[in-house]
Amino acid sequence: MSRIHLSKADVTDVEEAYVLDALRSGWIAPLGPHVDAFEASIAERVGVAGALALSSGTAALHLALLDAGVGPGTHVPVSSLTFAATVNAILYTGAEPVLVDSQSSDGNVDVDLLVQAVDVLREEGRSVPAVVPVDLFGRCVDYSRLLPLLADREVVVVEDAAEALGASHAGRAAGSFGQSSALSFNGNKIMTTSGGGMLLSDDLELLERARYLSTQARQPVPWYEHTDVGYNYRMSNVLAALGRGQLERLDAMIARRREIRDRYAKALAPYSDVRLLGRSGPDTDDADNCWLTTIVIDRDGPGVANSAVSALNRADIEARHVWKPMHLQPVYATHRAFGNGVSDELFRTGVTLPSGAGLTDYDIDRVVDSLTAHLDS
Ligand SMILES: *Cc1c(COP(=O)(O)O)cnc(C)c1O
Repeated sequence: MSRIHLSKADVTDVEEAYVLDALRSGWIAPLGPHVDAFEASIAERVGVAGALALSSGTAALHLALLDAGVGPGTHVPVSSLTFAATVNAILYTGAEPVLVDSQSSDGNVDVDLLVQAVDVLREEGRSVPAVVPVDLFGRCVDYSRLLPLLADREVVVVEDAAEALGASHAGRAAGSFGQSSALSFNGNKIMTTSGGGMLLSDDLELLERARYLSTQARQPVPWYEHTDVGYNYRMSNVLAALGRGQLERLDAMIARRREIRDRYAKALAPYSDVRLLGRSGPDTDDADNCWLTTIVIDRDGPGVANSAVSALNRADIEARHVWKPMHLQPVYATHRAFGNGVSDELFRTGVTLPSGAGLTDYDIDRVVDSLTAHLDS
């Protein structure tokens, strides 16, 4: 029996044909026609005016933050329950991240707590140019509530949609809610360029400035002339070709991930103390991209998630803890946090199950058998 992975890249001859075309075209250096076409089709898909293909989602966040005026002396409230890259990008700018806790239904940032963080910081006389909500595991933050509250306060939203391409909220696509938004195409995401990311915005001037910074901030003169510190953040043409192939298959991959989630939901329905994150009570997950299916095992004691993850790993199944909240990470523990205990609890009880589009029904049955055996033990 082979190992079952959490979220393995799903690549077919569609992608192979695109990459071969890129290689044979001679456009091997960064940039080229596949990059332009990839940007245009992602922008169209998400419904934004423009897109900038970059070397990673982290790079997209970094440039988005710089464009929002985030830097030394500013504070940026951000979801604590996220991948470290979100907070790292804030630290790269020299700004101070402020870690905000979750709501329990789906683990996304607690909207009231986020707004409270903005107000408290401002009352203290701090500069808060932007916030970074994260669309966790492919489910959008409640932007219907959040955006009006932030607009009243004139705070810019930098949306971390790294996990959420293909998801939507109230009919709008993930990646369209921020002044600028970041996508990731890392190997384990909903679609991949093996490594890459994209910055999205309706503000073409903002994208132009980011484009300039992403290509070493070169002035338009015949020699190398620099008046700003730049970055080498652009995506290569070969990788963009891979992305175009993946994008053609995105809806099929999302549909498969949803099927997988439905199988887990059915198998776990008899367990009254186990729920699917983002699908509890009146919440539906119809608009999620179903990137990773996460269960919450509502049982007492330490190590609830840990024993489930270990049991699955013993059966050669890669399951993971949910993100360990940033306020619990040694490297960020000194930064300020607005807590409510929810993300600590999700870290204690949350388990992310294999969710890749390439998994077979037989693979899923294996996961279910091992998981239910553990839950029954
Ligand atoms: C993956 C991820 C990132 C970073 O994207 P990379 O392409 O790996 O740099 C940022 N934020 C979140 C929430 C992510 O899951």
